[in-house]
Amino acid sequence: MNAPSTSAYLLLADRHRPRSMQLEPGISDVLGCRKRFAFKDRLSEHSDPGGSIIAILGTAIHAAAERAIRLTGRSGILIEHKVTLDGIPGKLDRYEDKTVIDLKTVSSWRFKSMLLHGADQQHIVQVDMYAKALTEEGYEVESVRLDYLNRDTGKEVDFSAPYDERMAQLGLDWINTVRSLPFEMVPRDFAPDSTMCQGCQFRSACWGGAVPDRSPYTAAFEVDNQLETAEALRQVRTQLTELKVEETRLRGELDALRPEYGGTVDVGSPDFLLKWTPKGRGFALTFVPLES
Ligand code: SF4
Repeated sequence: MNAPSTSAYLLLADRHRPRSMQLEPGISDVLGCRKRFAFKDRLSEHSDPGGSIIAILGTAIHAAAERAIRLTGRSGILIEHKVTLDGIPGKLDRYEDKTVIDLKTVSSWRFKSMLLHGADQQHIVQVDMYAKALTEEGYEVESVRLDYLNRDTGKEVDFSAPYDERMAQLGLDWINTVRSLPFEMVPRDFAPDSTMCQGCQFRSACWGGAVPDRSPYTAAFEVDNQLETAEALRQVRTQLTELKVEETRLRGELDALRPEYGGTVDVGSPDFLLKWTPKGRGFALTFVPLES
């Protein structure tokens, strides 16, 4: 028998962490998949082991950061501090200098997106929820900060903002909206083959009702909504046809730039190069992302 892979050991150990076994939703679930929040809100038993190596890497970096701050940080810093907001538990990474700080580990692709577009709305809402919970404990919070650590390169960027109670309220409103829906009506916010669903502890319960040997999306089919579903598909098909016409036009215009035998062209974007690759009798045009 071959020794199990390292990732098999990592996933097995991760499944026994208290956080992985927790049934109830937490602040870190807010603005995530609404269906998953609803499963957790009903304290549903996990139908799958769940977990992902990416999440395990994030947990390990959090643990290393916690150790480092406990070892070298000043006194008076709160680290991995448990809070509760309107009955929803959470654990904030750090409170220091009247600032609530949340660490996020991201891929190079996400990191680049952060540099271009700023912090994720979901992360802003969550960190303001931690801040609100802390103010309710009597702590003074002036600002919030998101530290994004690129787990591929080690680069870090942070986003600071004054504490905004309205953002926390946005998170609470999101929870109330999810709770106001009958469970069957709560949307599934990810595709069955997405990384999120593949690592979700409710995957079988969520998508398991699919018609055997048909699309996994049949799990979401409602016979009472068959007309709306068919109409929506018709609209999407119309939009796709229009988009295809537009795509052909834009690609055709850019063909003026194509090197004769294919290759890359810099059009002045900080994000990408255009690349033509021979394909059949013509050329395929793709976008090549630029490294941050
Ligand atoms: S399987 Fe996917 S859609 Fe379903 S609850 Fe989990 S993350 Fe959401």
